[in-house]
Amino acid sequence: MSYVDEVIEQVVKQNPAEPEFHQAVKEVLESLRVVVEANEERYRKDALLERLVNPERQIKFRVPWIDDQGQVQVNTGYRVQFSSAIGPYKGGLRLHPSVNLGIIKFLGFEQIFKNSLTGLPIGGGKGGSDFDPKGKSDREVMAFCQSFITELYKYIGADTDVPAGDIGTGAREIGYMYGQYKRIRGVYEGVLTGKGLSYGGSLARTEATGYGLLYLTEELLKMNGMELTGKTIAVSGSGNVAIYAIQKAQQLGAKVVTCSDSTGWIYDEEGIDVAALKEIKEVKRARLTEYKNYCPNSEYHEGKGVWSVKVDIALPCATQNELDLEDAKILVSNGCIGVFEGANMPTTLEATEYLQANGVIFAPGKAANAGGVATSALEMSQNSERLSWSFEEVDTKLKEIMINICHNISDAAERYGAKGNYVVGANIAGFEKVVDAMNAQGIV
Ligand code: NDP
Repeated sequence: MSYVDEVIEQVVKQNPAEPEFHQAVKEVLESLRVVVEANEERYRKDALLERLVNPERQIKFRVPWIDDQGQVQVNTGYRVQFSSAIGPYKGGLRLHPSVNLGIIKFLGFEQIFKNSLTGLPIGGGKGGSDFDPKGKSDREVMAFCQSFITELYKYIGADTDVPAGDIGTGAREIGYMYGQYKRIRGVYEGVLTGKGLSYGGSLARTEATGYGLLYLTEELLKMNGMELTGKTIAVSGSGNVAIYAIQKAQQLGAKVVTCSDSTGWIYDEEGIDVAALKEIKEVKRARLTEYKNYCPNSEYHEGKGVWSVKVDIALPCATQNELDLEDAKILVSNGCIGVFEGANMPTTLEATEYLQANGVIFAPGKAANAGGVATSALEMSQNSERLSWSFEEVDTKLKEIMINICHNISDAAERYGAKGNYVVGANIAGFEKVVDAMNAQGIV
């Protein structure tokens, strides 16, 4: 049996009931097969792949907090410090009832390669909790965040592990966490990113993942002889990534006709009204059913359905495995030319293969949404030098990083005989720097 197949089999056996983690490992290792086979003897002897798929450390802890009725609630917290080969662990904190160890491990594993692709010195990690901020009062969210950090603070720091936001963790949650960390440690350091502008946050961090996704989309289309202007786009989600993806797509001359949340989706033929969406989601924290009050000509549909709309481009920006084979078939039959992942692993393996086999340009999340973590690393730089850069300065750097990623993943794919396969290109380009650092640092 080949070394790659052996390690995939081991991962499935040693990490039972973690299907998302298996999926992420399979996707990466399949792409790396050609690189690994060229060095099989050495990699096997050094157990390189075993070291890559086993986190350096995983922390699981109790998070007790008191709700507004005086009732004690207990959630589970996680931090998986996957790889520090190229820098301090870096990756978001997800707060969602679906969170479990397997989901955090899949996200942490992906993060290793994503962070490497940015060209910045950041290792891979991820964390979170099964706490659901939805429907909780600000006081309850604060109580949870303070309790969460009271345990997590022992393991993080500006030079060791720097968490950020993710699903359910926005500016409010980062603020409460930062306040508690500072109170316990008594130091004012860049231990978290996505901070508010008044206490060390970076301009353009809020916009970065969505904007970066569109910079990459525009460049990859250009590299394939097409342009973004005039294209019709379907976006899923209506959170941080989706909102700023829609905004930048519109600025670049495209029309976004859909968005969604976990209960339903919007079709707005006139193009999604970003100001209304921001008001509903960022200010009121309400459901998308409200959108009709702002845009009466739009349609609201219950359940899933954004991929059924005829569009040129699809930008999945909600959550993992939200675009399956059936969705991929509909997109292809509707003439979709590109799928660019704003979320982490939103497309199933079967759907990805189908899209690629049918000539759809496909950019995986670890490349397409890397603008968020890249800008987080820029926030770390600003914190270290105790300076704040202008919006334009950060945005220009973000755009450069995304354009570099496009060329790096395209070149890597071509070097290994897989021209145009950006999944293979992203995995190989991300892996090369990490493996070089691992080899240089000995067996650790
Ligand atoms: P938010 O919490 O701001 O928004 C998430 C959106 O997705 C919401 O509209 C939410 O709907 C929807 N959603 C979440 N879970 C589900 C689900 N299980 N089923 C259906 N819809 C769901 O998160 P972000 O925008 O920050 O993150 C979105 C994705 O992008 C995630 O995969 C995240 O890991 C990834 N990402 C985020 C980065 C960032 O900088 N924020 C950076 C890189 C990747 P509802 O409100 O109803 O739950």
